[in-house]
Amino acid sequence: MTARIIDGRALATRRRAELADEVARLGAEHGVQPGLATVLVGDDPASRTYVGMKHRASEAAGMRSFQHLLPATTTQPELLDLVDRLNADEAVDGILVQLPLPDHLDAREVQRRVDPAKDVDALNPVTAGMLANGEPTFLACTPAGVVALLDEADVALPGSEVVIVGRSTLVGRPLSIMLTLPGRDATVTVAHSRTRDLAAVCRRADVLVVAAGREGLVTADMVRPGAVVIDVGTNRTADGRLVGDVAYDEVAEVAGAITPVPGGVGPMTVTMLLANTLHAARLRRGLS
Ligand code: NAP
Repeated sequence: MTARIIDGRALATRRRAELADEVARLGAEHGVQPGLATVLVGDDPASRTYVGMKHRASEAAGMRSFQHLLPATTTQPELLDLVDRLNADEAVDGILVQLPLPDHLDAREVQRRVDPAKDVDALNPVTAGMLANGEPTFLACTPAGVVALLDEADVALPGSEVVIVGRSTLVGRPLSIMLTLPGRDATVTVAHSRTRDLAAVCRRADVLVVAAGREGLVTADMVRPGAVVIDVGTNRTADGRLVGDVAYDEVAEVAGAITPVPGGVGPMTVTMLLANTLHAARLRRGLS
């Protein structure tokens, strides 16, 4: 079997064009231009690349983009003060503080400080708690991107066995909640580094989502023939290539459908950030 490729880049391109149309309509009908503020502390090259991508994507969608590049020496009070100013700024609808922060900063306190009405990265515990309660709220961008890819690939989730490898608050845990909400109705197992016999757990999956940050963790013998495999991982090889957590070539021979890296989940993460920012702009003005 050779797996069908789930093309995240194509879906992201289509969704971003739709979002740009909606942004233009919001401007024409209500004089509103959504604004996204990004905050980067320090000069980690990968973080710089991610923030740059978000900045370009928001401008391409017709949004305003406010980039705050702070030195690595920024203190916790200085960072919190910036978040307070962004919370109060009427032109800012969404706030994203790029992770990881330098070690001397407390990311959790910063995330708690972001106004839940502007929490487009969905990392404030209020937002996460609302998701866990099944209340409407912003959805964390990467898991929301995974769900969009599953929808696009027409994956029948109700009653299906989903295995997620990785339990982070950024990816695995919110995804497990999204997929067990009524309407999605999957049966979800969340695996992690303490899971006994990961291969056997993975083989149970109709849908296997891998978000561990370990190159080549999932091999063909761990995948049930015909399963849908979503590779969230992004790892740099010694020669600078971007690869996922799934041994792509061999798994593609077994799986029914698979996302590539690059070109799978990554483009959808940024797209969901734009969707959340547009949603925030509407909600803050009582427009939806
Ligand atoms: P993280 O916070 O480091 O969490 C990794 C998770 O994987 C942890 O729960 C860890 O288990 C588990 N894990 C690690 N090694 C394992 C192993 N050998 N067997 C089973 N489980 C294992 O990472 P993250 O932020 O969730 O990100 C995961 C990956 O996705 C990274 O490669 C990251 O770059 C990528 N990512 C991509 C996007 C995108 O847009 N494409 C967005 C976000 C993240 P423990 O909890 O037991 O330690």
